[in-house]
Parts: sequence; structure tokens; C-alpha cells
Amino acid sequence: MSVKTPSRDVAESPDGPPKLSSTFAERLTALGAESKANTAPSPEPVVLNDELAEQLGIDIEWLKSDDGVAFLAGNYTPEGSTPIAMAYAGHQFGGFSPLLGDGRALLLGEISNDEGELLDLHLKGTGRTPFSRGGDGNATLPAMLREYVMAEAMHALSVPTSRALAVVTTGADVRRELLEPGAVLARVAKSHIRVGTFELAARRDPELVRELIDVSIERHYPQLADADVPALELLKAVADAQASLIARWMVLGFVHGVMNTDNVLISGETIDYGPCAFLEAHDPAAVFSSIDRNGRYSYGNQPLIGQWNLARLAETLLTFIDDDPDVAVEMATDVLKSFPDQVREHWYEEMAQKLGLRDRAEDPAVQALSENLVEMMSRVAADHTGTFRALADVLRGADSDSIDLSSDEAWPQWHQRWLDALESSGANSESALDDVADAMDAINPLYIPRNHLVEEALEAARRGDLEPFVRLLEVTTTPFDRDESRDHFAEPASASFNEGYQTFCGT
Ligand code: AMP
Ligand code: MG
Repeated sequence: MSVKTPSRDVAESPDGPPKLSSTFAERLTALGAESKANTAPSPEPVVLNDELAEQLGIDIEWLKSDDGVAFLAGNYTPEGSTPIAMAYAGHQFGGFSPLLGDGRALLLGEISNDEGELLDLHLKGTGRTPFSRGGDGNATLPAMLREYVMAEAMHALSVPTSRALAVVTTGADVRRELLEPGAVLARVAKSHIRVGTFELAARRDPELVRELIDVSIERHYPQLADADVPALELLKAVADAQASLIARWMVLGFVHGVMNTDNVLISGETIDYGPCAFLEAHDPAAVFSSIDRNGRYSYGNQPLIGQWNLARLAETLLTFIDDDPDVAVEMATDVLKSFPDQVREHWYEEMAQKLGLRDRAEDPAVQALSENLVEMMSRVAADHTGTFRALADVLRGADSDSIDLSSDEAWPQWHQRWLDALESSGANSESALDDVADAMDAINPLYIPRNHLVEEALEAARRGDLEPFVRLLEVTTTPFDRDESRDHFAEPASASFNEGYQTFCGT
């Protein structure tokens, strides 16, 4: 990562601008509208993701040049790029919006990574598009930095996610409650095909759905290319990807906050880090988003909502699943019905690993340990992230009566059952338990983007001081290795901060 590079006038490297393709724009023309970015009066780089640029084969020196910065602001269109605002529909908080679309974003096209995979290059905050409705098409620096750090932290936590390539300021202010610096985020995703894209296609033309099925399979599930019923296999594959994604969110204490169908990707990556947050005190009912008044997208509801969203996808696929509607509904329903169990299986697997019982996910005793653990965590409002590190410390000999969980009456018995399970897995000496503790620490993060730290970093960035943001990014993208100089990054916020903490969409 690099910040505010002083030398912008580096000589053009022979590699120059990246070459893009525009397969989505060409093959699914009806699902996009050609659109142009606002001209940024004086674009300046704020943060660049060198490592990601390298994976994409983008010449980092070019990216830092005036043309490169113009490209990141949407004002330099490289060869092969046909910028479009993507069109999609979506169920928002349960209600259907027949036409949403990118109101402040552009798909520049696709780029190949170092593994030959095609990835979308997408800019957010580039001004009004045909889908902007009443919005100004802009994004603020704090909101784009927020998405940057959340996405990169999630990537470091092995969560499938869109990635952040860069944030540039545009040089134009954006009116929110106050004036804020305008910014553009460049992000990369396996694609931006959403459940909402299928919903729009299904309302417009069955042929569009057919093409979307083909494009989705080619890009995300090539193993299904020869499937007898591609639509059904696609539904199953998306269900599996969403089940494993949501289970991963759950074990990390991540609350997406706005699981509308336009924010659910067919690829199974996490997208749209507007109102998301990580839990501190474990609480199934936790909601952070200011507009989620009924708790539809609360932490504990996420698996159920995942299933609801898949049902919306299934509806668009029915005519491609079977000519007989009853048969199609039955087949799709079978997929949907098994979704809660799929999430649960992934969750058991993840939890077994987090408890040092990697190969025991199917053992009912280990499953009960996982369930009972989160029940205790809720009862005592234990810090979600800190709990798993504290458990590893207990294995290393820390006082088992000093951790958050010890205030729960079920703790002594749970602790003993856990030790018994570890022992029956072969961890029956001090040194074996130390090894288990180390293995736990290698997958249970110590540093996550805690809400108060994110807010502090964004507040400083708003004042022009990027140092706290850079430090937070550095710490949360290396989340496992303890370093004493970083201890305060592992501390929960004060109770008063957490009580009133709210997040906001689309700022
Ligand atoms: P989100 O909740 O961020 O997924 O956004 C939902 C919809 O609102 C999408 O169609 C966005 O493009 C649109 N949107 C959000 N913020 C703005 C804005 N400032 N201007 C125009 N459209 C916006
Ligand atoms: Mg969105």
C-alpha cells in the first residue's frame, strides 16, 4: 500500500495503462447504460493498493502518473473499456424496486488477474448516471475509505469479497450534512452480477436471463458448463457460495447491514460496505444501520435473509429449470429448504476450527460445544473477537476464571467439556495444548476494524490526517499476529460508544 505519493510525474512505463475487456457491456447491453464520469477538477491519490495492482498486472508507476490518477477518477478511459452504469432491480428491506442500477458507479470493464481470471474494475462516486434518481452520484472521502478498510480487512480474514484498489479525491466537495471531500473508490470484484440483475432481466426478457445464466456460469462456475439443467445447478452453486459466505460472516461477528437483493452477488463475494459493522458484544439481535429499524438485517437474521434472497433468485430461474412450473417450483424449493442446514454445516466446520477441533465438525459433542459457546457469549455479552483469543490463552495456562465467559454459570462445565474434547482429539499434554492454542490464534483474528477505531480514523482523514487510517489498515490487514504496540487495536470500545453506535448507507 502507498499513500500520497509525492512524485506524480514519473516517466510513463512501457506497460502503460491496463487493457480491459467489456464482455458484460457487449453481451448484456440491455442491462447497462453507457455513462461518463464527472470530470474531477483536481484528482489526488489518497491510498493505492500496490499488492492488488500487481496481481492485476497494472503498472503501479503508471497508476501513480497523472493519467493513472485520472483513470482512477474515471477521466481516462483505457483501451477496451466501455464504461457503463449497470442496471438492476432489487428487493430493498423486502419491498421490490423494479429499477435501481448504479446511481453513482461505473463498470469500466474487466481485467485479467495473474491467474487468468476475469475481474470487474468498478468505480464508485463518479457522478450521476441514468440510474441516479434523486441522488447526486457522488461519494465522500470518509465513506470510500470506510469501504476500503472494511473490504481489505475482510480479504485478510479470508472472506470472499470485492477488493479495494484505490481511493482518489476528486477536488470537488460533496454536500452531505456538512461539506465533505468528494472521492472515488476503485474496486475489483469477480463480477457485479447480483440477484437484482436477474430480477431485472426476468422482468424484461427471458433471453436476457438465459444470457445471464451463461455469463454467470462462464465466469463463476465453469464446472457447470455441461450441466443438464444449468439454471438449477447455478441456483445450487449460488446457494452454496452464499451459505459458506454467511457462515463466515457469522463466525467473525460481521453484520452486513443491507442484505438487499441488489447487494447479493452471484459470485458469493461480499459487496457494499456501507452500513456494515463488526460485533463487539456478541448479540444475535445486533443492528447498526440507522435505517434498519425492524432489525431485518440483524446479525442473527443473516442466514434467514440469505435464504429469502435466494428465493428471489430462484423465482427468476424457474422457467429455465423445468417447463412444468410445478416441477420447477419443487426442484427450486428443495434447494432453498436445504439452505439453513448448509449454513449450519459451514458454521459447525468453522466453529470446530476456531475451537481447535478442526476434524471434529461432524461430532455432535463438538457441535453442542459451539452452540453452547455462543449462548454463553450472548448471555454475558462477551466481546465476540476477543473470546476466541481468550480461549486460546486459557489453553496456555491463563486463569480460566478471569475471562469474560467465566461470569456465566455454565462456564466451568463448558470449559471441562472443551478440554475433554481436545483430549480425545489427542491434545493431552501441555505442549499439545500450546500447539492447539497457536493453531487457534492463526485463524482467530486479534485485530478487526472495530467501530470506534474506524470512526476515529475517518474523522482524522476528514481533517486531512491520514496517519490513523494507514495504521488501522496495516493492523487489520495483518489480523492474527500479536504485537504489543498494537494492543489498543484489540480493545473493545467503551460501553457508551457502543450503545449509540449507528452506521449509514450510501454516504
Ligand atoms: P446501496 O444501498 O449503497 O446499495 O445503494 C442502493 C442504490 O442507491 C443503488 O442503486 C445506488 O447506486 C444508489 N445510490 C446510493 N447513493 C447514491 C448517490 N449519492 N447518488 C445516486 N445514487 C445513489
Ligand atoms: Mg448496492
